[in-house]
Amino acid sequence: MDKQFVAIAIDGPSGAGKSTIAKLLAKELAFVYVDTGALYRTVGLAALRAGVDPKDAPAVEALLPTVQVELTYQDGTQKVLLNGEDVGDRIRTPEASMAASAVSAIPEVRRFLFHVQQDMALTHNVIMDGRDIGTVVLPDAQIKIFLSATAEDRAQRRYEELCQKGIATTYDEVLADMKQRDYNDSHRAAAPLRPAEDAVMIDTTGNTLEQSVELMKNLVKERLNGCCGK
Ligand code: C5P
Repeated sequence: MDKQFVAIAIDGPSGAGKSTIAKLLAKELAFVYVDTGALYRTVGLAALRAGVDPKDAPAVEALLPTVQVELTYQDGTQKVLLNGEDVGDRIRTPEASMAASAVSAIPEVRRFLFHVQQDMALTHNVIMDGRDIGTVVLPDAQIKIFLSATAEDRAQRRYEELCQKGIATTYDEVLADMKQRDYNDSHRAAAPLRPAEDAVMIDTTGNTLEQSVELMKNLVKERLNGCCGK
């Protein structure tokens, strides 16, 4: 009989703290953390590198057969490979963010990345974060969480992250990008950002990272005890 793996789906807009919180929780629970945004960013980067406009759906679709996206793990840290190359922080620039947002609206791109995501959940206990994990990718996830915070709060966190990485930008630029991506993500026809009906809603506005992690940890432990006898 197939082993039943546990899946925790975390969705929400950019900068709500999904990845930081999910990484810490995954470590604590010894689950694999899957950052699905990195997959869309990698396809976005592939388009930019090929000189293809990420908004040009037919051109992006034509590019897909030449694009290989793989997830690998080194000491528990996810790496995304684009045609065998570890694209690391190259997918974290503001340009790659906007390219990811554009290519993610293309249904063919979503289909292309769907199996990479599902395969991970079929073979591991996962905490997967994204925009459509609870609604489309893992509709049967045992725990679904929708994390949000005000755009200003999220922009401030993202701005600090980018500064730490030495990426030149301003708070206003980050806030404008954040609002644009929020709009794109929630208004696209293909898998728009929305909470699953059975998702627990958590607003992290004003919370410290520790407070949000504690909140999620308690929720996950309570649910896992209830559903899986863990
Ligand atoms: O989460 P992150 O900000 O890295 O995601 C980059 C972009 O990829 C998002 O703005 C969103 O447009 C897209 N995305 C998506 N579905 C996911 C994960 C990310 O459409 N599951």
